[in-house]
Parts: sequence; C-alpha cells; structure tokens
Amino acid sequence: MASLGRTFRLLRLLPAELQTSHVKPAVAFRVSSSTRNFSTEELPDGTFKASDVEVTLTAPHKLQAKPDVGNLIFGRTFTDHMFTVEWDKQAQWGKPQIKPMGNLPIHPAAKVLHYAIELFEGMKAYRGVDGRIRLFRPDLNMQRILRGAKRAMLPTFDPNEFIGCIKKLVKIEQEWIPHSETSSLYIRPTYIGTDPSLGVALSNNAMLYIILCPVGPYFATGFKPVSLYADPKYVRAWPGGCGDQKLGSNYGPTVFVQKTAEARGQQQVLWLYGEDHQLTEVGTMNIFFVVRNANGEKELITPPLNGLILPGVTRFSVLDLCREWKELKITERTITMAEVQQLTKENRLLEMFGAGTACIVCPVCSISYLGEKIDIPTAEQENPVYMKVLNTLSNIFYGKINHPWGVLVD
Ligand SMILES: *Cc1c(COP(=O)(O)O)cnc(C)c1O
Repeated sequence: MASLGRTFRLLRLLPAELQTSHVKPAVAFRVSSSTRNFSTEELPDGTFKASDVEVTLTAPHKLQAKPDVGNLIFGRTFTDHMFTVEWDKQAQWGKPQIKPMGNLPIHPAAKVLHYAIELFEGMKAYRGVDGRIRLFRPDLNMQRILRGAKRAMLPTFDPNEFIGCIKKLVKIEQEWIPHSETSSLYIRPTYIGTDPSLGVALSNNAMLYIILCPVGPYFATGFKPVSLYADPKYVRAWPGGCGDQKLGSNYGPTVFVQKTAEARGQQQVLWLYGEDHQLTEVGTMNIFFVVRNANGEKELITPPLNGLILPGVTRFSVLDLCREWKELKITERTITMAEVQQLTKENRLLEMFGAGTACIVCPVCSISYLGEKIDIPTAEQENPVYMKVLNTLSNIFYGKINHPWGVLVD
C-alpha cells in the first residue's frame, strides 16, 4: 500500500517536471526556426540539401487523373510523386530524390516493422485566392519532427533544407492542389528506422520520405459539431511517455477506442487522464474551452504542454491569435471532468472545440461520460470564438490576408 501511495505521488509530481523540461526544446526551436545555416555541432548527423534533390518524373501516360475533391476520403488518394532520402551510419545521408510514387524496398527485419521506430508530421499546402501556393508555419513542424527524431534516436537534419525539399515536391505536384477554398494538399513527412536487425536498439539506417494527398472539406456536411465519448479506463498519454510526440506508436492503439466510441453512437474519443479525469485531447486534436469565469470574463482554456499533450501547430496558432485579439483571458491549465460538469450546470461553459491541421477547428456538442450525457452549447453561441479562429486561419491559408505564417512555396 505504501509503495502504491508513493507511485501515485510520483505520477502527480511528474507533469510539473516535464513542463520545465519542455521549455528547453521550445527555446532551442525558436533559434532553429530562423533561416540561418546550421553548424556541424548542431547537426551531428550532417544533412541532405534541397539543392541536391534528384528528380525522376513519372512518365506522362502514367500520371493519374485528378480526383473530384468533393468525394475524397482523407488519406486514400496519393499524388504521382514522392520524396525520399536515406541515411546510413557509415555513409551518412544519401541523395535526396523526388520520384514516382511507389512501394518502399524494405527488409522484413527493419526496426520500424517490429518496434515502431517511426514518426510523422501532418501539414498542408493551400492554393491561395491569388493563385499562389502556401505552407502554414512549416518551421513549427520542423521543430516537432526534429524533437521526435531525437526521441526515436533517428538522425537530425537541417530543417530549412527539409522545408526546401517539401517545397520542391509540392511545386512538382501543384496541379494536385485543389482550386477550392475548403480543400488543400495534405503533406505527410514520415521518418522510419530501417536497420535490418531485430535487436531493440538504435537504428543505424533510416529513411525520411514525403507523400501527398489531396484533401477535400474535412466535414462533408459542413461544420456539424461532434459528440464525444469519454471513458477514463482508456489512456492516450502518460507522464514520462511519448504522447507529446508524433510517434506512430501513439496512434495504432487508439483505433480500438475510436471504434468503441462509434459503437456507442459517439463520433470521437475524448481522452482523459488521471484520477481526477483531466481532459487532454479529442481524437488527434488539441482541445479548447471558452468559459465565462468566476469574474464574469470570457476565458479561453487549453491544457498545458505537460507531456500529455501533443504540441499542435494549430494549438499555438489559436493561442497566438486569441492573445493578439485581447478579447479573452487566455489560460493554459488542466481542466477536469468535475469542472466541466460544474461549469455546464452553471451555464458557464460556452464552447468546446478541437484544433488540428486536418480539420482546423472542430466544434463539440456533447460528452458522453460514465453514463451521463453532457450537452455543450458550442453551436448556440452568437459570435463563437471557434468561428473567428477558423475564418482568420482560412484567410491566412488562402492568402486573403498577408501574414508571415503563410509561407510561399515559390
Ligand atoms: C497532430 C496532432 C494534433 C494537432 O497538431 P497540429 O500540428 O495542429 O496538426 C493534436 N493532437 C494529436 C494527438 C496529434 O497527433
């Protein structure tokens, strides 16, 4: 019993420690997001270069017809080309290549297939109203992939060179970017350990690749708020774990829980953590709440980056925008189910929404929790925060406003 008590105390202590350890990479990232060149000390594994990319185009008769974006299912349609670059401990980085989309040659013992030495990114390219193509804050995706690479013990590289490679691939595939203000080209950088040996050990071989998918509107039926299933017996991330990284191993086990939610008539999973049932994320989105606080002020609340939360690019952007607007008090803190129940009872929970690259924002209408259904009036607000966020971000994505977050591809 005594040792159990100690374990619980430790668990409670960990988030604060993780929070301080989280601050360090965030500061280092700010430096690395500038366009300066990297020293060999910062990039012990060297780097590949965008200017070295070798391009092999798909034969014209093999190019696919472009799909109707209205009927696209997320992540099923791929463009004609992909980017790959391989790394070997002895030979270091190989030649970066853009080549016809195709299967990977991979050894059956490759570490990715056994121990999930894998991480990925999710970003988008948008065709603006001015016809120009933009990425959104790609430097933040680079910070995250490099932090993940360190955790997975895969080699680092110069993030600006990788952005250069992404731009080259997107430019070649630009015809695939829908001419639509609700659609985009989804970019999936993927990083795998390919060492052909079964030891649970660091990988002496790696492959970094990029595949692209045209994506239509995330919600076919418009912005319909989603219902959530929250069951404290399922945990997505834990202190000392990797829930704050986009490692593939975090996602496979969630499919079962998502199916459980669907079987119970709910659309998405609300991930809880701890004895006090803290709300952490929705599906693969960060969560936000708009509440009327005890002082009568409107307050935006999102859980802090305490190791349990994936540091979303959209999350940072929602916080940055709302801070700039100065219309709301902004708080990064833990929020529990008991508090959500209390706020709802007092009619002080105004909005709840998820935020992520795939859907941008996703309003929530209810939470199904331990046999109770909690209704959330997100869709009933007059000028909801989530809509203002969505409209502003869309204006940046599609070049309706000139903003430094929109990064031109050419
Ligand atoms: C990718 C992801 C997000 C959102 O991150 P963005 O950078 O905004 O797309 C949030 N939560 C989880 C668990 C994720 O995997």
